[in-house]
Amino acid sequence: MTNSPSDTGAEPLKVLCITGWCRNGSTIIGNILNEIPGFFHVGELHFLWKNAAQRGVNEDCGCGRKLVDCPIWSAILPVGQPAGTTLVEHADAVIRRQLGSVRTRHTWRLLRGLHSEQLRAHAALMTDVYQAIAKRSDSRVIIDTSKMPGESALLERLDGITPYYVHVVRDPRAVAQSWSKPKEYVYAMGPGKSTGYWTGFNLAAHAITKRYPERSMFLRYEDFIADPAGTIDQLLRLIESDPAGNPVTDRTVELHTNHTVTGNPDRFNIGATVIRPSDDSWRTGLPQSAQRTVAALSWPLTRRYGYEFGAADSKGRG
Ligand SMILES: [Zn+2]
Repeated sequence: MTNSPSDTGAEPLKVLCITGWCRNGSTIIGNILNEIPGFFHVGELHFLWKNAAQRGVNEDCGCGRKLVDCPIWSAILPVGQPAGTTLVEHADAVIRRQLGSVRTRHTWRLLRGLHSEQLRAHAALMTDVYQAIAKRSDSRVIIDTSKMPGESALLERLDGITPYYVHVVRDPRAVAQSWSKPKEYVYAMGPGKSTGYWTGFNLAAHAITKRYPERSMFLRYEDFIADPAGTIDQLLRLIESDPAGNPVTDRTVELHTNHTVTGNPDRFNIGATVIRPSDDSWRTGLPQSAQRTVAALSWPLTRRYGYEFGAADSKGRG
C-alpha cells in the first residue's frame, strides 16, 4: 500500500528528474548532487529491475556490489513483489508494465492524464519505490537520471512527490561521437540512430518541461561544463534548496561512493574529480559524413538550442 506523506503531514518528497538523451552529462551532475546531505542519486532507476534480473547491460551498483547485494537496492527490489513470486518473476512483471505504459511514445498520453490499468499499477509501484528509497537512504531529494520521458511524465501522478525537471541537451555531434565507440559495458550506436533518439527524447523532454515550467529548467551540457558550480547553484534554486550546499569548488568536487543504477561508466569514479571545460574532439573525431548526417537530422532542434551549424561546421571543420 502507498504510504503517502500527506497522510502523515510530512513534506512531499522532491524528485529531481534529469531528462534528455543519453551522454548528456546527467551521471556526473547526479553524482555531484549526491554529495549534498539529504540528496540521493539513484542513477537510471528505470533499469533497476532489468539489471537486477540480469537482463540489462550492467548489474553492478555504483557502490561496486551487484544490485541484488547492495544494501540499498536489496531492500528496494522486493517493494511491490507479490507473495509467492521470485524476484526474477517480479522484475519481469515490472519490465512488462514499463514497456506497456511508459515508453517514449506514451509521454504525451501520460501528460494528458489518461490512465490504463498497467499505468496505475506502475504508478503505485513507483510511489512506493521512491518513498522506500527516501527512507532507506535517509534523503529528502532523489535525483533520477533515467531519462525515460514516460517515467518523467509519470512523476506527476505519484502521491506525496513533487517532481522537478532538468532538460539537459548536448551538441548531437558530440553525442554521436560518444556513441560511435563501445564504452566498457555500453554498446556502440551509429550517428543516424543516435541522432534519431536524440531528437525523440528531446522532443518528449520539451513536452514535459513546457507543461510544468515553474518546476523546470533547460540546460545545455556545454553551459554546465563552462560553469559547473554556477549550474549546480541554479539547480539547487530550482528545487528550492540552499545553494550553500553546493559541493563544487573551482571545477572540483570530491566524490564518494554512490548507489547508482546504470549510467555512464564514470559513475564508479570516486575522489577529487575535475569537471573539464569544453570538449570539441568531435570536430576531428567524428567523420565528416557522420557530421553531415547529424546536422541534417537534428537541425530544427539544434537551431532552437543555439548550436552553430555554419558552413564550416557542415563541411566538418577539423
Ligand atoms: Zn549500492
